[in-house]
Amino acid sequence: MTNPLWFDDCYLKEWSSTVTTALNNEIELDQTAFFPEGGGNPCDQGKIIKDGIEYSVNEVKKREGRIVHVLDRAGLQSGDSVHCILDWERRYKVMRMHTAMHCLIQIMFKDTGALVTGNQIYPDRSRVDVNIENFDRALIEKIVGKANSVIAEGHDVKIYYLPRDEAMKIEGLVKLAAAMPPNLETLRIVEVVGVDIQADGGCHVANTKEIGRLKITKMENKGKSNRRLEFVLEQEAI
Ligand SMILES: [Zn+2]
Repeated sequence: MTNPLWFDDCYLKEWSSTVTTALNNEIELDQTAFFPEGGGNPCDQGKIIKDGIEYSVNEVKKREGRIVHVLDRAGLQSGDSVHCILDWERRYKVMRMHTAMHCLIQIMFKDTGALVTGNQIYPDRSRVDVNIENFDRALIEKIVGKANSVIAEGHDVKIYYLPRDEAMKIEGLVKLAAAMPPNLETLRIVEVVGVDIQADGGCHVANTKEIGRLKITKMENKGKSNRRLEFVLEQEAI
């Protein structure tokens, strides 16, 4: 199994690793900070270097619980020692988006009871589908304004682990935790202190000040009570 380095350090940009399996242009590593696509999060990209020769990491996928790196070409072999470099600009945008998404969803839920039915994050924009009856631009603008105020307050984001039993007692976490594989005895918790707490395997910024400001770019009806919101982050991180 690959050790997922982003679990304990979302800011790790370079690391050394050993190739554990190689099949054509698809490889696994003993440890990686390349995040695989999943759960509405895009995969990381970057490069893997061996003896000065660079391979591009075009895609990272989860396949039967394994993390598979899809490279631009074949050439690496099992046992190779490699150096890995993340496309940090892309990753950092995704981290800011992901933490922004947590804040927005939680504030919207608190104010309106709206539940999320789907979401997709990209480095430059994100969308979220919510189940809500009374949904107009004024209400959404109000919620986004509130989310921006909370984000600007600068809440720390803590990542830690809890035994499953203990985690399941936390209000608001149960629904998501229940959707996780039942054999997980320990859950990774992402807490935007004072704002949101979730069981989550993703990459997040350390403080909400890094996010910038949310701006709604599109609102769409996707059914009787299903609405789609698209947003961007207006200013660069601090
Ligand atoms: Zn998340």
